[in-house]
Amino acid sequence: MVYDRRKWLRSSTPVSDDPRRVPVPPGKQDDEATLLLRGGRVFDAVDGEVREGTVVVSGRKIEDVDYTGDPGLSPQEQVHVIDVPGCTIMPGLIDLHTHLTYHEPEVPVERAQCTADATLRAVERMRFFLESGITSVRDAGSHGNVPFRLKDWVAQGRLPGPRVFPAGRLITGTGGHGAEGLGTASPGRGKIREASGPDDWREAVREQFKLGADVIKVASHFSEEEIHAAVDEAHTLGLRVMCDAETFYIDWAVRAGVDVIEHPLPRSDEAVELMSCSGTAAVPTLIAYMIIFHQHGGYFHSTSRRFSFSGEENMDVVRRMRRVGVKMGVGTDLVMDWFRMLPSAYITELEQFVRAGFTRTEALQAATRISADILDMGHLLGTIEPGKLADLVVVRGAPDCDLRDLGKIDVVIHDGRIVIRNGDLQVPRHEGKEMDDLKN
Ligand SMILES: [Zn+2]
Repeated sequence: MVYDRRKWLRSSTPVSDDPRRVPVPPGKQDDEATLLLRGGRVFDAVDGEVREGTVVVSGRKIEDVDYTGDPGLSPQEQVHVIDVPGCTIMPGLIDLHTHLTYHEPEVPVERAQCTADATLRAVERMRFFLESGITSVRDAGSHGNVPFRLKDWVAQGRLPGPRVFPAGRLITGTGGHGAEGLGTASPGRGKIREASGPDDWREAVREQFKLGADVIKVASHFSEEEIHAAVDEAHTLGLRVMCDAETFYIDWAVRAGVDVIEHPLPRSDEAVELMSCSGTAAVPTLIAYMIIFHQHGGYFHSTSRRFSFSGEENMDVVRRMRRVGVKMGVGTDLVMDWFRMLPSAYITELEQFVRAGFTRTEALQAATRISADILDMGHLLGTIEPGKLADLVVVRGAPDCDLRDLGKIDVVIHDGRIVIRNGDLQVPRHEGKEMDDLKN
């Protein structure tokens, strides 16, 4: 169980925001403008209903959702109104599995490893996410300090991008997933932390925490002692653990208390039942496997994992998890140059949820409310409710009727600011500082 310090704080008094996850001062900001999204359909992701309504944003937060036709603002109030007839207003989408810095194919090794290149790759991808209506991403492993710095710059409004919830380096056993044959000349160097023995696994967790990790990412292989140590250390620090594993490693990980199992890799019915009983969530990332099967026919030469090259087998894993009520969120794992397939890749992932038996509305809830929950940010993100952070998307059309309408993003509000308008990125001019004191 994650040692959550929030429960020691009285809910009746204002308390500090979690400085790790929301690195801005709590309370009101100076420049609180009011923004009104008016005349659209509201999908708040709370109960799956869609209703005509108006969403009122004040500063960084959602102030009100009005379904009466009169949001009750005082005439003096400075209000910026955006009329959105024929559109659907919904919470910002979440991608729970990305690697912002991973190199593209055919890139020379020195470029793949270079921090400057890694940062620039991430900056480009962050725009693609925003343009796709994705306002939060969980970075499941990236180069060195890069995801932490990106998170800060986005939070300070200095760089357009989704909220970044970084894991830092992926932790695996010596030669484990991501570290197969890893050497100084490997393009993957810099994003993997190999660990050996329970104490080293604890140390590896603390290293990511020190850098500012919001979540810990582990991958098989590991011993039972090692995964127990890592989960215990992370949970004591207040961090959840996401795990890339297959076969019996899933049983071990779930028994150790891992919070989320990534990917649609093979697992027994007993493991699925175990996930259901212990409340372990899943992020299937089916789209990544669809692309790799389509482009390469499989995933070869891996010594760290076994799986079948079958989309139907993967779908069966998701259906079995759904049948026993495993909570599932949305992640794409778009590595290589696949992020160029946004937003279609994200929408295709949601369509796979529907193939697995979700309704369209449930798929949209998985992309918002459920994914926010899996991020441990359900109290601030994932629904349109008063008091939540204002991450909102305005879609031309009705994605609850046709998921492909998610490809028609008109407006994106991020942290209360308009970052996409008419589908295009909005970057405000910098306000030039006065130089009066130099005049004499
Ligand atoms: Zn991944």
